[in-house]
Amino acid sequence: METELFIGGKWVPASSGNRFDVLDPATGDTVASVADGGETDAIAAVDAAAAAGPAWAATPPRVRGEVLRKAFELMTERAAELARLISLENGKALTDAKGEVTYAAEFFRWFAEEAVRGEGIATTAPSGANKILVVRQPVGVCVLVTPWNFPAAMATRKIGPALAAGCTVILKPASDTPLTALAMAAILAEAGVPEGVVNVLPSRSSGAVVGRMLRDSRVRKLSFTGSTEVGRILLAQAAENVVNTSMELGGNAPFVVFADADLDAAIEGAMLAKMRNGGEACTAANRFFVESSVAPEFSRRLAARMSQLVVGPGTDEKTQVGPLVNEDTVAKVDSLVKGAIDAGAEAITGGARPEGTGFYYPPTVLTGVAADSPILREEIFGPVAPIVTFTGEAEAVRLANDTEYGLVAYVYTADIGRGMRVSEAIEAGMVGLNRGLVSDPAAPFGGVKQSGIGREGGHDGLLEYLESKYIAVNW
Ligand code: NAP
Repeated sequence: METELFIGGKWVPASSGNRFDVLDPATGDTVASVADGGETDAIAAVDAAAAAGPAWAATPPRVRGEVLRKAFELMTERAAELARLISLENGKALTDAKGEVTYAAEFFRWFAEEAVRGEGIATTAPSGANKILVVRQPVGVCVLVTPWNFPAAMATRKIGPALAAGCTVILKPASDTPLTALAMAAILAEAGVPEGVVNVLPSRSSGAVVGRMLRDSRVRKLSFTGSTEVGRILLAQAAENVVNTSMELGGNAPFVVFADADLDAAIEGAMLAKMRNGGEACTAANRFFVESSVAPEFSRRLAARMSQLVVGPGTDEKTQVGPLVNEDTVAKVDSLVKGAIDAGAEAITGGARPEGTGFYYPPTVLTGVAADSPILREEIFGPVAPIVTFTGEAEAVRLANDTEYGLVAYVYTADIGRGMRVSEAIEAGMVGLNRGLVSDPAAPFGGVKQSGIGREGGHDGLLEYLESKYIAVNW
């Protein structure tokens, strides 16, 4: 297990000598002590990334792609050990962790193939006076900041396109889950990434370290995945040097079930949309809107499925729902559920934090949730499904759009015309139409409104790391 900073291709201690503990969410015990990067280390990482930049940008796209392809193969070979590491520091069930490793590795495979597709444009100006030539160039040194909920996939979703485009990076992982990021650094080095192209900087002082890098004029890009609250702070900081930004922020996904929907499929989709990653996903269904006539049956069946899930340590093969990542997260979930119950909701399964050690919260279904409950406004980030009833298409769309977020929405209906109409009317960057899962490395992932700016994955994900340079020329 790597526990030092990774700067300029070397494992180094923090210049301050400081370290911080990583905890096992199943027990609260310390699993490792990791070097705690500070501002001096941040500048050393920018030095390394800036020095490595020109040679990496000049490396043939095919060679860059082959390095990423090798990283995909190494991740796939080591899937079991990576999944165990993710589960250990994040708490998620091994099945979720294995799913994450596959998903994460696929970003390297996808961008290995995209590396050779940085195509430009050559055309004649409408006046006929000259030619318009557009070439794509790497943005430059990128600061990548990732959350704890998908410690591998949120890193590869940024590193893959950045390296494919010819950029060099400094990854600042979440301090709850730095071990997976360090394991990724080791894999990338083994895959042939040259020194300084990828640097990984765990830190407990994220604000100071990221702020310092954003003030360095050599840094040209910030790609952030995390909460809307922190995203706003970073957008303001990036504005000072007009740093290019991509923002993948919070969500408050509606899961809309019309009366004509195939209820078996809707229940399967609901389990996936709610319980993937134990509910700790930006794409998690956060508000269930179910048409009145089918709401009792949907609620009963969802509660039956949720109550059968096996809760336990993520690293136990039998576990389907692991603990939440830390004490703050479980306390927030508990308070949102209590608030909803105090305002008249009923917990038809779960609904109370268990006694004992570890950051556990039981799968919970709430019915009769009041429209103004905070649980419908805030990201729950836990295994809780609040259900609200509606009548008709217009009300469904109004309820779905009644949020400042706009990441993803799920819609279940047998009427394809209605499905398309509602998908267009909902203000979200992504829609799952009769599907409970949208994430795919080949598709553009991202949000509208306060869920973010920019897209990751697909061809769009590569473009986020390229600048278009226009050359006016006669020939
Ligand atoms: P977070 O608190 O916003 O933290 C995200 C990252 O930012 C972490 O690395 C964190 O470091 C760092 N950070 C915190 N404060 C900072 C500051 N002032 N300046 C610079 N960096 C700072 O989010 P989280 O709790 O880790 O993750 C959950 C959130 O991520 C949810 O809102 C979820 O919806 C969102 N998310 C969005 C997507 C998407 O694609 N849209 C995907 C996954 C997750 P520390 O860990 O040291 O605090």
